[in-house]
Amino acid sequence: MKVLRRLAAPMPLCLIASAGLLALSDLSFLKASFVVERQNAGLAAACLAVLADMLAVGLAYFVLLRIAWRWRWLFRSLLIIGFAIMPLPAYFADLFHIDLQLIMVGFFQSNPAEELSFIDASLLARVAGNVSAGVVLAVWSFLQAPEPRSPNRWRKRAWLASALALAIPIGYAATTRDPSRPLRTYLPFALGYYAWDTAAQSVEFGVRFRNKRDISAGPLAIEPQNRELHVVIVLGEAERAQSFSLDGYHRNTNPYTAKIPGLVNFTDAWACANLTYLAIPCLLTRATAENHTELYGRETSIISIYRRLGFFTSWLSTQADWRFGIRGYQGAREITREAENRRFGWSGTTEEVGALMNAKTDPNVLLPSLDKVVRTHAATFTVLHSWGSHAPYHRDYIQPDQRAFQPACDRPFDQCTPEEVVNAYDNTIVHTDQFIARVIEAMRDRNTLLVYLSDHGESVYDDEHGHFVGRPGGTLTHGSSPERYRVLIAQGLRPEQRWIPMMWWASPRFLSDPRNAARFARLAAKQHDKVSHDNLFHSLLDCAGISAVALDRDLSLCREGQVPAYDDFIRRPNAVPSDAAVRAAGSPGAPSPGVADPGLR
Ligand SMILES: [Zn+2]
Repeated sequence: MKVLRRLAAPMPLCLIASAGLLALSDLSFLKASFVVERQNAGLAAACLAVLADMLAVGLAYFVLLRIAWRWRWLFRSLLIIGFAIMPLPAYFADLFHIDLQLIMVGFFQSNPAEELSFIDASLLARVAGNVSAGVVLAVWSFLQAPEPRSPNRWRKRAWLASALALAIPIGYAATTRDPSRPLRTYLPFALGYYAWDTAAQSVEFGVRFRNKRDISAGPLAIEPQNRELHVVIVLGEAERAQSFSLDGYHRNTNPYTAKIPGLVNFTDAWACANLTYLAIPCLLTRATAENHTELYGRETSIISIYRRLGFFTSWLSTQADWRFGIRGYQGAREITREAENRRFGWSGTTEEVGALMNAKTDPNVLLPSLDKVVRTHAATFTVLHSWGSHAPYHRDYIQPDQRAFQPACDRPFDQCTPEEVVNAYDNTIVHTDQFIARVIEAMRDRNTLLVYLSDHGESVYDDEHGHFVGRPGGTLTHGSSPERYRVLIAQGLRPEQRWIPMMWWASPRFLSDPRNAARFARLAAKQHDKVSHDNLFHSLLDCAGISAVALDRDLSLCREGQVPAYDDFIRRPNAVPSDAAVRAAGSPGAPSPGVADPGLR
């Protein structure tokens, strides 16, 4: 008891708590750093670097707790909240084999539905275990005998705390060698850094949205045969071309669309970004992979043009409506607001959260809405946005007898084999395939131009060259910063997250017009060319016989001859990111066991 009491003094208790937080929240990232560092600089340098990192992180926790000790309620709350929250990134990093930057960007920029979809029994058990450690330490602090308060003692403590706080950046600056390894690689720094970064971005985007340019302004015209036309975008989510049999996958994942005559499947199509909130604005505006971060939120989308042409515009989605707080999704939400008719799968009620990935998020629920729209309006422009193949891959709405690949993972990823996870992923592709076919069937007898494409691809236990390696070493899900993504393009890495399925279809009535037919034939002739999201905006205007100021026919798939490939632009010397970013990506052949995109941190 005496020892316990003595250990409950502020210094030992803060030390124990800091060590606990360090172990639970940063060990995974320190380990990852060590692996990368060892590859780059050798064993001794790696040991030194990781030791310096550990010291800096440990000191940060210690200083925070030591200052909070002054107000015991704050100290105890910090312990409990810290132990609940801080270990979560490490949990996701171990589960998905992704790094801290992606997790933090995901946390701050994602939407609540996406975040809630990751909550399961295994996560809750982990949180409960960690919180109980925090509670034990908080209770332990009551053993401390009350100290007499003296202003001198407090001054001494304040001095000690400030000295320690200063020691962190100084110590770190003295030991660190590479600017691409900033302290935001670790918690608790990452939390502060990304919170600040997100808030600053949000302010910047607010200014952009207010001064947005309306690209539908100026002369607009549409050929007479298409004044009554239905344009449909089936917008997928995290579906990778690598898992489409139409694109060469050995499994039959396209049993429905493969049978559709006249369907044009692009076998070499590439995404503008590998995060939903960046890809959607990029593909629906005239922004390109090269300039989309610059144009983000500065211009209206293709919806504004169709709307001004008198089309009834709809955004029908089983995803969330992205209306919450400081989120990167603001840009995507701004675009949905250009549509007159909006329907979302999830709007924030508790009852709906429970239904996530259940019946309400089945894209087939959008079909009656589509039917109503095209029955009541002669000219329509509709985006059908689904949950597609977003992780987790289990879908209650896919009937057991429709899950073609078995056994399929229906539990948290770490409780399934990588092969079961692949099966579950492939089942979502078959389901999407069936959905595309149903939309085409619903639109067959109308004057229709339809495109299906995914916002980006997905890693399903792949190395950075897109080869399945299972666990450990394989990456799950998707995402990287725009800068990092341009490096991936330039170096040809993570193809599975960039290579997307894209299919075009035009109804017999649309093709009965010779001008439409000629343009669509030119599009079909490019089905094996290298194309990308950059082409969608211009093709959807040009192929429908629309003239607009914003249209660049050079990028239209319906033009004569080839379209310029987006990676050629990215590879231009002045377009490639800084040397440090390229270096951080590592040499293309270097293996990276257990670490997803080491340069991304
Ligand atoms: Zn996405």
